[in-house]
Amino acid sequence: ERVVARLFAIEQPLPGARKAIRAAADAITPDTRAGDFAQAMMDLGSRICTPRAPACDACPLAGDCAARGHDPERLPVKAPKKAKPVRQGRAFWIERKGHVWLVQRAPEGMLGGMRALPDDNWSARADGTGAPPVEGAWHEAGTVRHTFTHFTIELAVLRLDGGAGEMAGPGEWWPLDRLDQAGLPTLFAKAARLAEAARERRRD
Ligand code: SF4
Repeated sequence: ERVVARLFAIEQPLPGARKAIRAAADAITPDTRAGDFAQAMMDLGSRICTPRAPACDACPLAGDCAARGHDPERLPVKAPKKAKPVRQGRAFWIERKGHVWLVQRAPEGMLGGMRALPDDNWSARADGTGAPPVEGAWHEAGTVRHTFTHFTIELAVLRLDGGAGEMAGPGEWWPLDRLDQAGLPTLFAKAARLAEAARERRRD
């Protein structure tokens, strides 16, 4: 693939270029001993026409190579990397009497089964709803940006101090002085740090 892309200076990026590369390879493959030819091309690709710094001066095909002297290293042209989608979500820090409300994430899906701050159901495929788990006087604490394998999440952290109502759904009041033992995944540990920093700012 690499040798043929360079021999014919095929500028189209992969994977779209594969058709043109195959057609060009077919055009130069002899009718007899096609297997030997293919093997020779592979040897050339691994020993001389290497991905970096091809040894053009030692190449038996140099006289017929369209890319020689024209920066052959750039061929074949790689597909441009797809930008990762950026999702928007919210995480909610609810603090009462030295405790914070933590939930257990659903076993399937992102960070499945892990302890976390409640959030607004953002996912790899969709933004969150924005809806908090309880009504109240929420304060913005900042935004965490975190990159997963397939997407980036921008997680706005909101905090609510006090309140007395029962929390809906499964969860637990976790003591703030043992938060480092909650096993929060990195994203929510970052969110927790923002929420705690916001508390300190409000005290100042
Ligand atoms: S001349 Fe250089 S770029 Fe062209 S096939 Fe040979 S090693 Fe590859």
